[in-house]
Amino acid sequence: MLAELLLKWPLIRQLKSGADGTGVESMSEATHALRPKSDGADVTRSICPYCGVGCGQLVYHRDGKIVSIEGDPESPISRGHLCPKGAASYQLVTHEGRATRVKYRAPYSREWTEIPLDRAMRMVARRMWETRERTFTESLDGKPVMQCTGMAHLGGATLDNEENYLIKKLFTGGLGMVCISNQARI
Ligand code: SF4
Repeated sequence: MLAELLLKWPLIRQLKSGADGTGVESMSEATHALRPKSDGADVTRSICPYCGVGCGQLVYHRDGKIVSIEGDPESPISRGHLCPKGAASYQLVTHEGRATRVKYRAPYSREWTEIPLDRAMRMVARRMWETRERTFTESLDGKPVMQCTGMAHLGGATLDNEENYLIKKLFTGGLGMVCISNQARI
């Protein structure tokens, strides 16, 4: 009984094994019993959405919920590493402080109010169309240009290829906008 108790003491285990005290010999039973939260979860390979570097990620999920996002050791770009932003991307979809409601501050107001998403989308669409009508240029110095320089669009790195394709089609082809860029390009 006493011997059993003594063997639970890391110092005794270290002396007994001759190890230097930096390995398993110094772990308590509670530490030994700890399992990673991704243990037994399914994993899907993905790409960090935050910037143009495109580091590889392993997204662990269980019962339809993400449990952890880690760097992908097989990514030739990042070899398992993620910067602090990429390492925190788990919170992109899970953090309780995420803004999930549209907030609107009317001109000259000091207060933000919550408005429904469909109303916000209609307001954005109306203002875009008014700006387009007001600033669209058909010709310049006698030459046709058919362009709208009154608006610009800066996309975020979380936009995927398909979304960027649609943005370019709608804003350039549909509205004539020429100032379109994306943060992922830098
Ligand atoms: S934000 Fe960081 S982890 Fe994500 S792709 Fe860029 S460098 Fe990689």
